[in-house]
Amino acid sequence: MRTRFAPSPTGQLHVGGLRTALYAWALARGAGGGFVLRLEDTDLARSSDAAADAILADLRWAGLDWDNDGDVPKQSERLDLYNAAVDKLLADGRAYEDGDAVRFRFGFDVTFDDAVYGTIETPASNCEDFIIRKGEAGGRMPTFHLAVVVDDHDMGITHVLRGQEHLSNTPKHAALCDALGYPRPTWAHTPSIMNPGGSKMSKRDKAKAARKAAKELNLTAVPGVDGGALAGFIDGKTDDAGITTDIARHLNLDLPEIEVSDFQHAGYLAPVLCNYLALLGWNPGDDVEHFDLDFLKEHFGLDRCNRSPATFDREKLAAFNQDAILKMPADQWARRLREHWALQHPDALARLGNHFDTFAAAYHERSRTLSDPLRVGRFFFEAPTENDFPAKAVKKNLRRNEGEGLTVLRDLRGRLADAAWDAEALLALLETVVTERGLKNLGAVAQPLRCALAGNPATPEIGPTLEILGRDETLARIDRCLAWFGADS
Ligand code: GLU
Repeated sequence: MRTRFAPSPTGQLHVGGLRTALYAWALARGAGGGFVLRLEDTDLARSSDAAADAILADLRWAGLDWDNDGDVPKQSERLDLYNAAVDKLLADGRAYEDGDAVRFRFGFDVTFDDAVYGTIETPASNCEDFIIRKGEAGGRMPTFHLAVVVDDHDMGITHVLRGQEHLSNTPKHAALCDALGYPRPTWAHTPSIMNPGGSKMSKRDKAKAARKAAKELNLTAVPGVDGGALAGFIDGKTDDAGITTDIARHLNLDLPEIEVSDFQHAGYLAPVLCNYLALLGWNPGDDVEHFDLDFLKEHFGLDRCNRSPATFDREKLAAFNQDAILKMPADQWARRLREHWALQHPDALARLGNHFDTFAAAYHERSRTLSDPLRVGRFFFEAPTENDFPAKAVKKNLRRNEGEGLTVLRDLRGRLADAAWDAEALLALLETVVTERGLKNLGAVAQPLRCALAGNPATPEIGPTLEILGRDETLARIDRCLAWFGADS
């Protein structure tokens, strides 16, 4: 058995592509067979080496390996092979010249067996002649249909796994195989991945989300984006990825993750993403839900692949990711988080300095992704402004009981100014304040303080929170809080 993954290097790797790669890899590796890559770059204008490198990097990140590492063929460098096949078809009368292009003489019934979708019969009336080599304008490139058939044969591929969108191309491929005298491979198409709303999950979803937000806010200017290009984007004339990102950055908008790198940047763990994707379209049986690549390799089979479209459930993926994070020992979590932040959030990492491990520990149980602590713990990096204090929180934590919270803050302000600055000592200090002032519990001191630091009392444990924030920042925030809310008490 020998399988392949054959991406077109025209953009980032989509999660659906990764799922196809996982299945093809697992099927072959589980049988002790070969797995190879091929770059389908016959659309020269849209293909790039950068995109090819990024796709390979994503596959590596996912944990896959391929036999032709370092020597992945590009279709654009194999034109002789395709031209020989075209010549043969011309010589055999199976193809003809049409202007400067070459067409395959179709027009007969084709039947093929798909390992997932069963027997597919296509009547002659649906089998029109089709181009196998483009003319001058297309650089005399083979079309996808010809190249894929020639390559799969040349590379000894026995099983072709790919997305359902190619099912309708397969009658052409079966006819070409027959005409060229190649044995047919086994085809297995896997169902599309859908958004919960029923649309196909696609790169365009990101542009759509950016456009929707831009329209709602009547956005007319974005730093670094040409005004005309922005207007065109908002009108739906392009889905430009650069403009999409610029709008999202400008509006502080979270775009839906679609491509593998989106999930990577958002802090999903590779084994979790692979696990979740593998379940979209394949049923491992026995109620198994959590597994790794070794399990997939051992158990994956085409017989348990589904035909119906799979819905991408972001909540479920996040829950899988949180499970995996919770299972990590503390030191592993801190290490993974640090690695991720070094790449994705270097400023925040630098800001935490040698308090990073304390910060990591504080968020171990609250994080669904490796980027979550940045969102949930935003106040560590950005001081709250007056408007960030919900009226309810001010009332409850600061003003209630004749401003008890504000009184506590004034008292703390003095004591914290020259306290020893570590989590334990700070906690002990707060407890002293509780006792000395005859308050009912730690919360009576910790909640007003949390409120002053974060705008509302949602912070990790107060000792580590103070330690991480540091003395200067803590005092400055207490001062501002007292100035905003303490004047009239
Ligand atoms: N280059 C095609 C794609 O990216 C692959 C088709 C195939 O696997 O045969 O959709």
